[in-house]
Amino acid sequence: MTDESAIVNPARVNPAPVNLFELDRAGMVAFFAGIGEARYRAEQVMKWIYHRHVTNFAEMTDLGKPLRAKLLAACVIEPPKVVFEKPSADGTHKWLLGMDGGNAIEAVFIPDKGRGTLCVSSQVGCGLACTFCSTGTQGFNRNLSTAEIIGQVWVAAKHLGNVPHKQRKLTNVVMMGMGEPLLNFDNVVRAMGIMRDDLGFGLANKRVTLSTAGLVPMIDRLAVESDVSLAVSLHAPNDELRTQLVPLNKKYPIAELLDACVRYAQRKPRTSITFEYTMMKGVNDKPEHARALVKLMRAMDAKLQRANAAKVNLIPFNPFPGTGYERSDEIDIRNFQTLLLDNQVLTMVRRTRGDDIDAACGQLKGQVLDRTRRQEAFRRKLELSALGQKGIVDAAA
Ligand code: SAH
Repeated sequence: MTDESAIVNPARVNPAPVNLFELDRAGMVAFFAGIGEARYRAEQVMKWIYHRHVTNFAEMTDLGKPLRAKLLAACVIEPPKVVFEKPSADGTHKWLLGMDGGNAIEAVFIPDKGRGTLCVSSQVGCGLACTFCSTGTQGFNRNLSTAEIIGQVWVAAKHLGNVPHKQRKLTNVVMMGMGEPLLNFDNVVRAMGIMRDDLGFGLANKRVTLSTAGLVPMIDRLAVESDVSLAVSLHAPNDELRTQLVPLNKKYPIAELLDACVRYAQRKPRTSITFEYTMMKGVNDKPEHARALVKLMRAMDAKLQRANAAKVNLIPFNPFPGTGYERSDEIDIRNFQTLLLDNQVLTMVRRTRGDDIDAACGQLKGQVLDRTRRQEAFRRKLELSALGQKGIVDAAA
């Protein structure tokens, strides 16, 4: 053995085989070209994976034995591992999917009249630390790979079964699970491409929605590089309050964020932008907040010169252990909605689903090996407030 071979990295001599879930159609075609195979072979394999949920080369009967053997040596088809899954009484279904180490992320399927929406995660944890979000208290570990993102859709689609295209149950995907999708841009955009590709899940562009806390430069990049529906987590109609709830607002305040939304909508003339607004009791749910929100939304419509270019989605706050916030009262949510509607702002209230299995918006927390010490800080805060409460009880006794 020469000195040189002694220092060769074994991973480079024997690199991990490619996981085909990492590749979109262009990547698949390039990979197949690289092993001397034609484009239509790549397309056949995509149909096996995404239309029939087959990951075992031996079952791909139209490939021929030599090609199957070649693929077995050159690549793998590895979906995320289901650690645990839980159906809810209302038909919602949650999966905890194991990533590497002790990390796990969550995906949630929400059936509704005539459609079924899968809520997909983009990161293990989240670095943005929005104060009312459970994932925010978990800290951050890492971005998910393309395979880990599209794999969530694959696991759900397989669970829901092979049905003819028109009767399928999974009709929409929202990137509203754990993480900030625009901070994992390339993998999210590639995975959303597979969701919309006919050889992938074949979803219509407008049925794939990316939700962001408001990374302005990345919204502009998304407008150029992808074609999906955009949802923006607004939650407050003024910078002072929004900065408290979404710390990212300090970097990209409301005016800049809304300008980016106008640019996005200008590139996609028929789509509207949804503004998410989580309703927290006594925090952002008063009539003056609704009136300020009307002004922002009407200004968007005026800039885009059409009605309902900006829509509002009110989300009743979903509590999680240790949170200091409470859900707004039903009557306040209704009044808020009415005020917006009376001022020509199209406004929906999102029905809370799957809260019996902690699968509602903002309740996903998976298992995050935190690299940011946020979990520690949150635990300390909890301990202090528990001590404080005990102090009050002691004092009262
Ligand atoms: N990072 C992205 C996507 C993840 S959150 C974003 O910020 O948009 C998906 C939506 O759920 C966001 O609008 C988020 O603000 C909202 N949300 C977070 N925590 C919530 C909670 N506890 N109750 C209700 N909605 C919540």
